[in-house]
Amino acid sequence: MGFELPEILKISKQMQEKLVGKKITNIILTDRLNSMIKQGMSNLDKRKEEIINTNITRIYPKGKWIFLEFHNDNLLMLGEIIGKFSYFEKTNSLPSKYHVAFQFSDESYLTFQSSLYAFLTIATREEKRMHRYAGNIGPSPNEPDFSQDYFLKVMSQNEKKPIKAALNMQDLISGLGNVYINDILYDSKIHPKSKISSLTSNDLNTIYISIIRIINSAIELGGCSEEFDLYDLTGKYNRIMSKNRPHCSRCGTKIVKENVLGSSSYYCPNCQKIQ
Ligand SMILES: [Zn+2]
Repeated sequence: MGFELPEILKISKQMQEKLVGKKITNIILTDRLNSMIKQGMSNLDKRKEEIINTNITRIYPKGKWIFLEFHNDNLLMLGEIIGKFSYFEKTNSLPSKYHVAFQFSDESYLTFQSSLYAFLTIATREEKRMHRYAGNIGPSPNEPDFSQDYFLKVMSQNEKKPIKAALNMQDLISGLGNVYINDILYDSKIHPKSKISSLTSNDLNTIYISIIRIINSAIELGGCSEEFDLYDLTGKYNRIMSKNRPHCSRCGTKIVKENVLGSSSYYCPNCQKIQ
């Protein structure tokens, strides 16, 4: 599990409220960060000086990413996050375990504790533009650009892909990941392995409506009940498809868990027949 659009929007808003206008005075890296550095997901070891002692001017979300802009035009890019960010005022003590802690001039802290990985990358504007993932993020379901026409066009251009893979193309439809894709496909009664070319236009319209409905609902509820915000609180969106729901709420059939394209898909073999 990781942050998808609803969680990103919530955390980004909390970061805006707490961090814009502040300066980072110190970045504490622990040995835990080493594997992320080795995987090329963080360059904080080499480049942290580029964002120290300069004001954070703007924080904004896009897809599965949060961008912190600094007065000197450098950025801290946080993306594809499986883990937890936490905010601590001066009077709080830091947790015993974290991968990295950002200390601010008012002695507040932001820590990150990874559960698997995340990009924590410092970049110039040009490097952001050229970044393989951060530089190429498509419209999100909460944005006006994500129209029904746009969605149908993207689907028609990717006909050979299974629907699960197509909904995860961050350069074309950003912010969805495994958790919400499972729920969207259950809601629209589509098997995750169904090829787009095998779906009717009615199926695709149904999927579009499910995306909008499920994502908006999760945004309103502050994200998933299994993900934490900066203050250690979870969202209120309960996943439809998870190990806690062994049977289909529509037909009672046992839900199947299966690895599809590298992550666990949950589906009802009766309601979601492969097409
Ligand atoms: Zn069912």
